[in-house]
Amino acid sequence: MQGRIDHVGMWTWGGRIFNWKRYLDNMRQSGMDTAVLWQDRVPPNAREIQDYASERGIELIWGFNWSWNSPVCLDSAADAQKWTETVLHVLDAEYLPLNPAGVYFQVGGTEFGGACRVNCPVCTQAARDGVGSLFVKFAGSIIAAVRRRYPQLRISAGVHLGGVHKSYETLRALDPAVQIMWEDLPGPGQCIETPFAYDWAPAAAALTPATLEMVRKMCALRGTAEDVAFVIKGFPCHWGGGDPMLLEDFDLKALATIYQSKWEAAAKYCEQRLGDALAVFRAIADSPARRKTVVLLVEHGLWELRREYAAVLVTEALRDPYREAAAVIAAARAKLEATP
Ligand SMILES: [Zn+2]
Repeated sequence: MQGRIDHVGMWTWGGRIFNWKRYLDNMRQSGMDTAVLWQDRVPPNAREIQDYASERGIELIWGFNWSWNSPVCLDSAADAQKWTETVLHVLDAEYLPLNPAGVYFQVGGTEFGGACRVNCPVCTQAARDGVGSLFVKFAGSIIAAVRRRYPQLRISAGVHLGGVHKSYETLRALDPAVQIMWEDLPGPGQCIETPFAYDWAPAAAALTPATLEMVRKMCALRGTAEDVAFVIKGFPCHWGGGDPMLLEDFDLKALATIYQSKWEAAAKYCEQRLGDALAVFRAIADSPARRKTVVLLVEHGLWELRREYAAVLVTEALRDPYREAAAVIAAARAKLEATP
């Protein structure tokens, strides 16, 4: 809807959630409604997690590998066919029985700059020019097969700008029913700049008119059919697989001590850069895209133990970016004080 960001939430490796109940509770209390859980395969407690999220008004999107971090050639029809069969099998066996709100995928070669399993000339050239059109070709054929079998299934395409960079506009050829979720947008000095996508430090990613122009283009790639999402990074995080856990406080306190200084720095930077962030969020909200989503990458950040101010502040900014920075700061502080 024009004039607002429709959905705000979290993106995380499921295996770095130490207490999934409290993680979802804290999301709800902060006004978030979307969670993307990235797993290698469906966790055994998936239905329980999904039901718990749903009761709290949170849509759970299940992310799994459509060749991410696997040896693949994006120019190979045989590789696309092999992964189509794998994806359909995993959907049938693991995810469709959950009747999920949606699924999310990543393919190989976008996060790491177009590495090809056979170092073919097409992929090698694409690594220099951006893998956008190869992504459309490879992922597009899997998407088409999935949509033939499951026309109602919502699909989100995770796209790292690291590999796509200046070719990002070629993604306008992607099926408009598929949400594009942009991640790892580079910082200053490169041809494409979106601040806060990777780092909130004051020296990183100064806001320029070109930055705002790129955000506007991404929000209108497929016209008013655009379903666009951004992953905002720059919070304390670590990586890891495995299944979401249900640990108690005593297990987490040592980690909380380690992360305290990181969260304090994030809070300081988020406040300092809030004016620029609000300008970017307003560009997203102002766009005529049919759906706009922003998710924060808060994994391994102990969100389950404590709603950290930096993430609450950014969530507050996303929920209504038309306020002045001081008003957003006051609202975020009030929210934490009202429900500590
Ligand atoms: Zn190749």
